[in-house]
Amino acid sequence: MTCHGLFKKVVGKNQKLNIFVWGMRAIVIGLNLWPIYLMNYELNEWWDNETDKKMVKFLFNLVEFLNIWAYLKGSIKRPKAIPQTPTTDKNQFCMACRNWKPERAHHCSICETCVLKMDHHCPWLGNCVGYHNFKEFFLFCLYQAIIGMIYSYCLYPFAFFRDESDTYDLSTFGYVNYYCTNIIALPISYALIFLTLNVLLQLYNNLSSLERMMMRTTKIPCIGAVNEGHSIPNEYDMLWLGNMKQVLGSRLWMWPLPITEEMKGQGFYYPKIPEIGMSDLNIMLKDASRVHNTSFNVNDFDHDPKDYVKKAMKKYGGRTFVIAPGPEGGQTREVYVPTEAQQQQKTIIVE
Ligand SMILES: [Zn+2]
Ligand SMILES: [Zn+2]
Repeated sequence: MTCHGLFKKVVGKNQKLNIFVWGMRAIVIGLNLWPIYLMNYELNEWWDNETDKKMVKFLFNLVEFLNIWAYLKGSIKRPKAIPQTPTTDKNQFCMACRNWKPERAHHCSICETCVLKMDHHCPWLGNCVGYHNFKEFFLFCLYQAIIGMIYSYCLYPFAFFRDESDTYDLSTFGYVNYYCTNIIALPISYALIFLTLNVLLQLYNNLSSLERMMMRTTKIPCIGAVNEGHSIPNEYDMLWLGNMKQVLGSRLWMWPLPITEEMKGQGFYYPKIPEIGMSDLNIMLKDASRVHNTSFNVNDFDHDPKDYVKKAMKKYGGRTFVIAPGPEGGQTREVYVPTEAQQQQKTIIVE
């Protein structure tokens, strides 16, 4: 049996009986129950005054509640079924499922099904991460990281700055929880800080892990595109707020809660900017510069690099697209590109 075959067997599809899946879930619940018990019942000496103690305990328990809610939901919610739909498009056909594979969907060989907007198969959740549970996955990473930070905020002053003459005895059960938290739960929470930042970058760009691996242009806040030039333009990028709203919810109060709403395309279709991506645009502008022996920048593009305009019309005629601000800043603009027929009627690009 190959390594992959063995892995498939161990973490496989039968969620109800699978020992590995439930073992991993038990560990994650443990990561949370150990510090919950400690913070609430054993470590009352960690705080000098009652107000601090109440506030920290309230915050900690609130984050724990949201975390366990997000985790259980993300872990149990199965990928959405894809209706039997005939397709002649080879790129949108799954050989394994013998069915339509919508855009952004991928086949998971562990779940043995296609998963909408698939991100990865997560052994910690015992579930695929994709359109159906990406928000829950993100909140779980975020809250588990925050829990580690709150716990450390209480632990470090106690561990390093307490009076040596003070001895605090924990119960035997308390010691078990104390060591499990410090040796197992805390390093995992710290590791999740980095994973959370990575997932945030995905939310910011509207990209799944798979799409990032497939070299879609990735932007970093305040820095801009990092892999432009050798990447495919990201047609799903609806600018950061639009991107975040697609996953976290259309209203801000929904963002911290593990509740989701159905997107317009229900995970089968996604809004796309019918745009010239920045890398696409730069290639064209460079081309225009070469032909005309002048230099243009993004803000010039709708004025007079004629060669570029011609190319853009041919490729993007009849569409509206969004141009991000250039390096000088400014506003995001929506630009309509007329068709060649409109061009012949002497229509020019209008904003
Ligand atoms: Zn499939
Ligand atoms: Zn899977």
